[in-house]
Amino acid sequence: MQRLSFSIFRNPGFRFGIPSLLSFLMVISLKEGRETLLVYQNLLLILPYILFALIIILSQPFNQGRTSLVALLMIIAYYIVQNHLQAPLTNNTAKLIYYLLATLLPLNLLLVHKLPDKRLWSLFGGYFCLFIAIQIIWSTIFIQYIEKSDLSSLWNSGLLTQLHFSPLPLLFIFWGVVVAGTSTFMILFRNYGSDQAVFIGVLFSSLTFIFFQYGLVSCSAFTLAALLHMFNLIICSHEQAFIDQLTAIPGRRALETELKNLGKTYTLAMLDIDHFKKFNDLYGHKTGDNVLTLVAQLITKVGGGAQIFRYGGEEFTILFKGKKSEQCEEHLEKLRLAIAEYNLVLRNYAERPDNDKQGSMTRKNNVIHRYIHVTVSIGIADSEPTSNPGIVLKAADDALYRAKESGRNRLSH
Ligand code: GH3
Ligand code: MG
Ligand code: MG
Repeated sequence: MQRLSFSIFRNPGFRFGIPSLLSFLMVISLKEGRETLLVYQNLLLILPYILFALIIILSQPFNQGRTSLVALLMIIAYYIVQNHLQAPLTNNTAKLIYYLLATLLPLNLLLVHKLPDKRLWSLFGGYFCLFIAIQIIWSTIFIQYIEKSDLSSLWNSGLLTQLHFSPLPLLFIFWGVVVAGTSTFMILFRNYGSDQAVFIGVLFSSLTFIFFQYGLVSCSAFTLAALLHMFNLIICSHEQAFIDQLTAIPGRRALETELKNLGKTYTLAMLDIDHFKKFNDLYGHKTGDNVLTLVAQLITKVGGGAQIFRYGGEEFTILFKGKKSEQCEEHLEKLRLAIAEYNLVLRNYAERPDNDKQGSMTRKNNVIHRYIHVTVSIGIADSEPTSNPGIVLKAADDALYRAKESGRNRLSH
């Protein structure tokens, strides 16, 4: 049976869709099934503290700096909601805290997209805590300063509150939507695990503020957000352990796990870029990295239900489960040709003027680039004589050596 691939959890659609769906279901159940939730009220009230504290602790060894920043912001926001926002919102102080939190929390969460992925227990983490402390102190002073004034004219004027829908004025709802939209944009176009952490934080905290009239909204929303964060943390650490950072395809550890779970029939191919050392020497290591990433992308299109892995350096392993080598040769031969014929565009950085304006003029008028090519050699072996993966891998490697010896840019048995 084909095992569930982890890549689905990294899919931007999944990263956006699942939290959105859960948040929708949460709002429905808060409206319709409040009695059921009341049974678990005591547990729900403390769960966000426990879960977010766990996330902060686990983020440290898992190297998920941004996730820990989000968790810290969420736990502080939850504390404020539980301890300062349980009074009726007609109270000036409660109202000011409510509006400030609905403004500052999304803003701080949004900032996390841009902050470095550094650990919370570090100098950087210290500065971040200081930054939060300054905001809390400023907000406290601000509230003390204006809470005694008569603010009724402010509440009744331009804030546009539609009480039948939400106690939060439209302006603040719009702000939450803008921040959630920006976060969605980050998932769709950058898609780091931490982008999803921010999105979950923004989505569930904004819904808390919008549907503040429903009892238990904060503990339900923050519990759900924490559970999703926990799940995201697991996916991110899986990603760190099994996905190669440069090429974004599974790495050697993923291959080793896969080799332990093979059936009787399979084919392994080892692919190595030809004369790559010379390529690096000629065009630089950075260009070499770009080419490695591009070759990895071309290999993912090999077809035949193959799984691909970066074995190390400029070597890749291609695994065809349930197939004999004759069934894979055509796919590999097509791949070899596709790579050899691919026009790699090389921009001439050396001739580019330092000045940006001058540089872009030169590029527009006289595009300095040329096409270069790389070739690959492939060795193939199947599980026909023995299904021991170590032996089959060695046979594919020996075949690769023969492909190199007989002139490169070819497929060998
Ligand atoms: P052959 O055709 O025999 O495979 O020659 P080769 O030069 O490709 O083989 P060799 O194993 O001697 O060198 C592999 C080179 O690949 C060495 C190193 O410079 C380069 N390389 C390995 N990993 C990376 C990487 O992550 N980025 C870049 N840019 N180069 C890498
Ligand atoms: Mg090579
Ligand atoms: Mg090599």
